Amino acid sequence: MITETQLNEDFPAGRFAPSPTGRMHLGNIYTALLSWLSVKSRGGRWILRIEDLDPQRSRRAYAEQIEDDLRWLGLSWDEGGLGDLGPHGPYSQSRRGDIYHRDLCRLAERSLLYPCTCTRADILSAQAPHQSDGRIVYQGRCRPAVMHPLSPDEMPGHTLRLKVEDRDIMFTDKICGEQCVNLRDHCGDFVVQRADGVCAYQLAVVIDDALMGVTEVMRGDDLLLSTAQQLYLYELLGYIPPVYAHLPLIRNEAGQRLSKRDKSLSMETLRSEFSPEELLGRIAHLAGLRDNDCPITLDGMLELWSEQNIT
Ligand code: GLU
Repeated sequence: MITETQLNEDFPAGRFAPSPTGRMHLGNIYTALLSWLSVKSRGGRWILRIEDLDPQRSRRAYAEQIEDDLRWLGLSWDEGGLGDLGPHGPYSQSRRGDIYHRDLCRLAERSLLYPCTCTRADILSAQAPHQSDGRIVYQGRCRPAVMHPLSPDEMPGHTLRLKVEDRDIMFTDKICGEQCVNLRDHCGDFVVQRADGVCAYQLAVVIDDALMGVTEVMRGDDLLLSTAQQLYLYELLGYIPPVYAHLPLIRNEAGQRLSKRDKSLSMETLRSEFSPEELLGRIAHLAGLRDNDCPITLDGMLELWSEQNIT
């Protein structure tokens, strides 16, 4: 039998986990490409997982468009996508509710979860005055003085929060280096199930990466600090965490983060202006793989990546 540790060392696996809420932009494709290069340069698997947890914002048509944009660039996935290729499916989060529910029950049994009835306004009014960076730190208003197990029939229809300890979570990011995040200060008790019964991103991403055998998570550095929440969940659920590599976010000319509403660097515009090789050439330059942005093939890029031994 293969142990999980062996799996991590011997079978590298990376993933791209887009939310199908709009057309991809340069930043999304940059992340996809770098995670593909990283895992392919080591002969690993690359998984495409559709993160369509939010039923209001996710659309199948956007997921189809994501697949089309990846194929246009030559990026093919070994597992996942809308076709559910491979043994760890389904690969769309909206169809993994039962899987998430199993682990939610494990946490609930151990007195780690409690229902929360706070509105956004309640939470904001309890914020410390210096909390001005938009982060919401939950102050524990609904946390019972004595935590008790929740049975599966007490769980539906409630926002459920995970009780966090006043503890520093340390980890080493392959790109950003040593990190130390105190969960109480960073987020407080955080949501693992929304009031509509949908599993929250932080928990879903952990369960999915663990069960899909992902050994390396490469994504934008807007998610760097939430890695601490995810590592805490890995520990509680007894899963082996992947290695993390957070890429600097690509910004537009005004220095702002790219958004799916921003059309200038959307895949629609990029595909109308560049061939796949021209776009790859620009990304190779942007990623610091070489000092010019001449067209390059995907194979050429893989060679550059491997020569420079980036990951
Ligand atoms: N679905 C998230 C996004 O599109 C990415 C989550 C992750 O890579 O962990 O921003």
